[in-house]
Amino acid sequence: MATLSDNIQYLKGVGEKRAALFAKMGIATIEQLLYAFPRKYTDYSQPYPLAAAPYGSDCVVRVRIYSIGGETRVRGGKSITKVMAGDESGGLVITFFNNPYAAKKLSAEGEYLLHGRFTGLPARREIINPEFISALSPAPLTPIYHLTAGLGNTYVAKCVKTALEACADQLHEPLPISWLQQYKLCSLKDAIIGVHCPASMQQVETARRRLIFDELLSLQLGLLTLRSRSHTVTGAKMEKADVEVFYKALPFKPTNAQKRAVTELIADFKSDQPMNRLLQGDVGSGKTLVAAAGMVIAAQNGFQSVLMAPTEILAEQHAATLNRLLEPFGLTVALLTGSIKASVRKPLLAAIADGRAHIVVGTHAVIGEKVQFHKLGFAVTDEQHRFGVRQRSLLAAKAQNPHLLVMSATPIPRTLGLLMFGDLDISILDELPPGRQPIKTYAVGTDKRARMFGFIEKHLAAGRQAYIVCPLIEESDADGAADMQAVTTYFEEIAKPLLPGRKIALMHGKLKAAEKMAVMDAFAKGEYDVLCSTTVIEVGVDVPNSTIMVIENAERYGLSALHQLRGRVGRGSNESFCILVSDHQGKDSTERLQFLCKTTDGFEIAKFDLEHRGPGDFFGNRQHGLPQLKVADLMADSRVLYVTQELAAQLLQEDAALQQPQHKGLRQMVQRLFNNEEISFN
Ligand code: ADP
Ligand code: MG
Repeated sequence: MATLSDNIQYLKGVGEKRAALFAKMGIATIEQLLYAFPRKYTDYSQPYPLAAAPYGSDCVVRVRIYSIGGETRVRGGKSITKVMAGDESGGLVITFFNNPYAAKKLSAEGEYLLHGRFTGLPARREIINPEFISALSPAPLTPIYHLTAGLGNTYVAKCVKTALEACADQLHEPLPISWLQQYKLCSLKDAIIGVHCPASMQQVETARRRLIFDELLSLQLGLLTLRSRSHTVTGAKMEKADVEVFYKALPFKPTNAQKRAVTELIADFKSDQPMNRLLQGDVGSGKTLVAAAGMVIAAQNGFQSVLMAPTEILAEQHAATLNRLLEPFGLTVALLTGSIKASVRKPLLAAIADGRAHIVVGTHAVIGEKVQFHKLGFAVTDEQHRFGVRQRSLLAAKAQNPHLLVMSATPIPRTLGLLMFGDLDISILDELPPGRQPIKTYAVGTDKRARMFGFIEKHLAAGRQAYIVCPLIEESDADGAADMQAVTTYFEEIAKPLLPGRKIALMHGKLKAAEKMAVMDAFAKGEYDVLCSTTVIEVGVDVPNSTIMVIENAERYGLSALHQLRGRVGRGSNESFCILVSDHQGKDSTERLQFLCKTTDGFEIAKFDLEHRGPGDFFGNRQHGLPQLKVADLMADSRVLYVTQELAAQLLQEDAALQQPQHKGLRQMVQRLFNNEEISFN
C-alpha cells in the first residue's frame, strides 16, 4: 500500500526512469505530486457551434466524427491523418500532424469535445492537432499540468489520479475543524481532489480558496516564528551617543533625512528592546552613511557592528567606504567574504572573535557557523530585498538580540512590508544629497548604436566613465535568445571597435571574486573608461565619476531592476545619462521603458512594476526573499493574508513551537512551504 511519503517511483505506472523525470520538476514523493497543482484547466463545458467558434483564440466545440482517413506519409518521415467531422452548423477537417495515435483514439460516429484554435471558412472549419475528450466524459474540466520533456499531460493526470486513489485518505486535516466552518473552507482532502479532478470551475475555486488559506497561514506561521524577537530584551543597550564628532569628520553635510534617520537609530539603541528597523531610501539617498553613524555609536559603547551585503563587489566597496569614514575614529574594518583565503581567514576570524575587528563587512559569509563575534551590538543588511527572511534571522542570532537595521532601495508596499517585517519600524530617506541632477533617460533601438557610442565617446573625452550592461556571458547560455547581447561578444565585437583607444574592462558572474574586485577597483580608480558588465553591478556599486549607464536588451528586466541599474550613475555632480537599448516592439515593453524615461521616483516605479508585472517583477522570489507561493497571490489575496496573520499569532501564542500533537499537520505544512528549511520553532 502506497503512502504519501513514498518515492514516486513506487507509484503504479511510474518506475525509475519516469521518477527521474518527475524529479526534474521537483517532484520526488507521492505527496509532492499531489501538491503539484494544475496550472490551468481546459473547460469543455461550454462548446460553441462550429460556425461560431471565434477566430484567433482557443475554444471548444462539440462534433460528431464522420470518417477517419488513413495515415499518409509526407516528406521527412512525418505523417498526416485527416478526420472529417461536423455539427449542425457546419463541417470540420481535423488534421493530426505527426500524431497518428491521437486519431486512433477517435471512433467514427462518436461525439467529441474538441479544444484548440479553429481556422477555415464558417461552413468548413479546420483545426490541427486539437485536444479532445469524449462528449460522454463525465468530467468536462481537464487539468493542464506543468510538464517536462518525456512526461505528457495525459500521463501526469493519470499518475495524479492513481495517487489520489491510493493516498487521498491519508491527507489528514491539519486545521481545527471549527475553522473550516468559520471560514467556510472545504477539507484538505476535498481541496486536493477538487484541484486535480474538478467537476466544475466552482469546485476549483472552492479548492483553491482552501489551498490559498493553507499557504498563507503557513507563510505567516513561518515568518512569525522567524521573527520571534519582538518582545525580547536586547543585550546591546547603549548609553552614549555622540554623533556630532562623526558628522564633523565627514567631507560633506549630512542631509536632514539622514540626520532624522540617525536620531531614530539612537532612540532604538538607548531602549531596552532590540532595534528592528527598515531604512528605506531611493538609490543614491545615502543609506550607507546612516549605517556608518550607527556603527560609530555602537563602537562608542564598546560594541561591534556587522554589515551584510548581497554580493562580494558590494561588500568590498562597503568595506572601503566604511574604512574611509571610520578610520579617523580608530575603528578597524574587516572584510569577510566566501573567497577570502584560508590563510587570511583564520586571523580574521580571530580578530572578530576577540574584538579587534570593530566592524565586519561581508557577504552571507558573515553568518557562517565559524564566525563568532566578541560583542556584536549592531547588525545591518544592505539591499535587504536580496536576502531571505531566514538569513536576516541568522544574523540576529549572532549575538544576544542585537540591534537590527535592514536597508533597501526597493520601496515595499505596505501589505508586503508588514508581512515581511511585521513589527519593523521604518525610517525613510526622502531626500537626495544636494547637487544631484536628475538622470536623463532615453530608450533607443540598436539602429542608434553608432550615435550612442559617439555620445559615450564625447563624455569619455571629458573625463567621465561609463557602464554598459549586457544580459549574459555566452550566447549559448539561453536557448532561443540568439539576439541577446552576450557580454563577451559585445565587449569584443562592439564596444572595442566602436571605442578605439579606450580602456574597456569586462566583468561578469563567472569571474572569480578576486578578479571581479580587481576590475571594480581599477574602474573606481579611473584606470578604465568603460565597464562592460552583466548585472553583477546591479546593486549598490558607487563610482561617482561614472555618468553613463547603457543597458542592452532593456526589455529583459523589471523596472525596479532597471531603476537600480540606473542608480549606479548620477552619484556625483556631473550630469548623468541612462540609455535603454531595446529592439522589442511590443506595446508592453515600449510602455514600460517609456515610463522609466519619464520617472526617476523609485516609489512610482515600484508601483508601476506592481501593476504591470513585467519580467523579473517585484514579486519574483529573488526580489523579496519569501518562499515561492504556488496558489496564493500576496496582492490579490491580501484579505486572507490578514486573517491568517491573526490566526497564526494566536496559534503561536498557545503553542509557540507547534509541538502539541494536534498541531503536527500545521507544522508539516509550514515546513513544506519553507522547503523543509530548518525553521526553529522556539
Ligand atoms: P544608497 O542609499 O544608494 O546606498 P550611498 O550610501 O551609496 O547611497 O550614497 C550615494 C553617494 O552619495 C555616495 O557617493 C555618498 O558618498 C554620497 N553621499 C551620501 N550622503 C551624502 C551627503 N549628505 N552629501 C553629499 N553626498 C552624500
Ligand atoms: Mg547602497
